[in-house]
Amino acid sequence: MHSFTYTQLPGRVVFGVGALEELPREIERLGAKRALVLSTPEQRAQAEDIARRLGSRAAGIFARAVMHVPIETAREARDEAKRVGADCAVTIGGGSTTGLGKAIALESELPILAVPTTYAGSEMTPIFGITEGGMKKTGRDPRVLPKTVIYDPALTLALPVGLSVTSGMNAVAHAAEGLYAQDANPIMSMLAEEGIRALARGLPRVVKSPQDLDARSDCLYGAWLCGAVLGAVGMALHHKLCHVLGGTWNLPHAETHTIVLPHAIAYNALAAAEAMKRIARAIEAPNAAQGLYDLEQSLGAPLALKDIGMPAGELDRAADLACAAPYWNPRPIERAAIRKLLDDAYFGRRPA
Ligand code: NAD
Repeated sequence: MHSFTYTQLPGRVVFGVGALEELPREIERLGAKRALVLSTPEQRAQAEDIARRLGSRAAGIFARAVMHVPIETAREARDEAKRVGADCAVTIGGGSTTGLGKAIALESELPILAVPTTYAGSEMTPIFGITEGGMKKTGRDPRVLPKTVIYDPALTLALPVGLSVTSGMNAVAHAAEGLYAQDANPIMSMLAEEGIRALARGLPRVVKSPQDLDARSDCLYGAWLCGAVLGAVGMALHHKLCHVLGGTWNLPHAETHTIVLPHAIAYNALAAAEAMKRIARAIEAPNAAQGLYDLEQSLGAPLALKDIGMPAGELDRAADLACAAPYWNPRPIERAAIRKLLDDAYFGRRPA
């Protein structure tokens, strides 16, 4: 075994069907008396339900979370938190809503109680992102890590099948890259493999039967583990490519991750043999990259960047951007091979 350093992140997790019942007690446990509830406009009804459950401990609802946390929205939410005298934020939703909570916490140190309803995993990480002037800036700050996370699989029953699949593969991507992270460690590798396994087991059953609570539980459990990996160790090529593609061409987050993942894994295959073995074992396939592609295909996931809005003539620019700033990756970043990877992802070819 290699030597390693491992930092345990703090945080309390309440997991289970019906776990949302614990919300009032968990808010009390945080010592909070005035919670501002955050959601997207689409999830306002769920935010209202949260406020009802909190009764007098609900200070208000801000149902204007949108993708990529624009600075204007962050400012409005911060002002609203001040205006209502909030001493806590409850986020109900996916990464966009959790991200808005983080933007508030970054300035005010307000504790966040997160109630995730997708598999993105943001609730497990001290990573924040705020978009200003068309540029998304990301950073790490322990103040934005939610103090408590309530995972209730029942809340994911309404997550559309398509989004369940891509969000689930987004989670798998965190774990897959965590396995070959520069600062990988045995604890996180264990979580990563188990997280991939839980999602690979759960997603096909969710596709077949979206109301299957047991399958939903497996997926949310996997998402938790994969999110924890993202929070604890560094990422590499795959996350860099998705950041470039999403940031520059405004491609949808989870779909982009889904499409790029098998290709990024194929790129790193020879440089990260142990990680490949663990991914392959978790998805029960002979080959990690091909196995991920086949899994996605069987789940009806999008497989080609051309189908999600990537302009045809921009692959060279994407390759340039992906190679511009140096970052760690198990295999060195080679321009020609990255351009080829993007071509394969653009047309949705099965990795060789
Ligand atoms: P999202 O939060 O943007 O949600 C997508 C849509 O699905 C929204 O309209 C939302 O209201 C809806 N939705 C969510 N849960 C639902 C449910 N159970 N039922 C019905 N509708 C539901 O999507 P996402 O993929 O969860 O998050 C993507 C964002 O999160 C990106 O901006 C990404 O950068 C960020 N993110 C950040 C981190 C981090 O660690 N900071 C990690 C992962 C993702």
